[in-house]
Amino acid sequence: MGRIAIVTGGTRGIGAAISKALKEAGHTVAATYAGNDEKANAFKEATGIAVYKWDVGSFESCSEGIKKVESELGPVEILVNNAGITRDAPFHKMTAEQWKEVIDTNLSGLFNMTRPVWDGMRERNFGRIISISSINGQKGQFAQANYAAAKAGDIGFTKALAQEGARKGITVNVVCPGYINTEMMSTIPDKVMNEVILPQIPVGRLGEAEEIARCVVFLASDDAGFITGSTLSANGGQYMI
Ligand code: NDP
Repeated sequence: MGRIAIVTGGTRGIGAAISKALKEAGHTVAATYAGNDEKANAFKEATGIAVYKWDVGSFESCSEGIKKVESELGPVEILVNNAGITRDAPFHKMTAEQWKEVIDTNLSGLFNMTRPVWDGMRERNFGRIISISSINGQKGQFAQANYAAAKAGDIGFTKALAQEGARKGITVNVVCPGYINTEMMSTIPDKVMNEVILPQIPVGRLGEAEEIARCVVFLASDDAGFITGSTLSANGGQYMI
């Protein structure tokens, strides 16, 4: 059954794969982004998926943006909180700005996006909230105190909200990807990839964005109605929890 979906950060990387996969599954998708107009327009051109620009770190922008999407496409039934950034630094060098930017986008973004769609989902007795956390929110990572804190927060948010949505037909789940083959990874030197990163991954390769997208499509489906408050690790066996 085709539904209305928003994917934040849905114009490139993992988010673009999620937007495309949801569209292929028959849903009408709105893909949001922060500022990279060139990438967003190319994505819109290539896929025919509607794109919208706003900062998930601002509650007002999210409320206004969601209103616009709903007036153009209809009530949001599937929300994928995918937008995320890194501002890495060892803690003794981490600035308050680096901390705040990551928390605002990767954690407060979930509140800012979910709160405006929540009442409508409750009224209609259906909703799917899926957030993209990270393996590093499960196990921590050197130089990522800000990112790990935000991503661990996404898991707590999911578990709390799943309890509130359960009787209203709203499921709330979180996907924790491990290393995924995105633009970010292409900058890592071969030596580091082959000698440091790949040996940590039992399946012996990076994940593909489409593999995360397929997890999201399943969790967004009507078939996944009994799965809520769940943390789905998709990391090639790198961290088993
Ligand atoms: P990318 O950097 O490729 O894309 C990020 C997307 O988020 C872009 O569309 C970007 O918009 C958007 N975005 C960033 N900040 C904001 C903001 N403040 N408001 C609205 N949109 C914003 O990310 P990835 O595909 O690598 O990662 C996607 C998610 O998966 C993130 O949450 C990340 O933490 C998580 N993840 C990624 C892993 C990986 O290996 N890549 C591993 C584990 C988790 P714009 O194009 O305008 O900048």
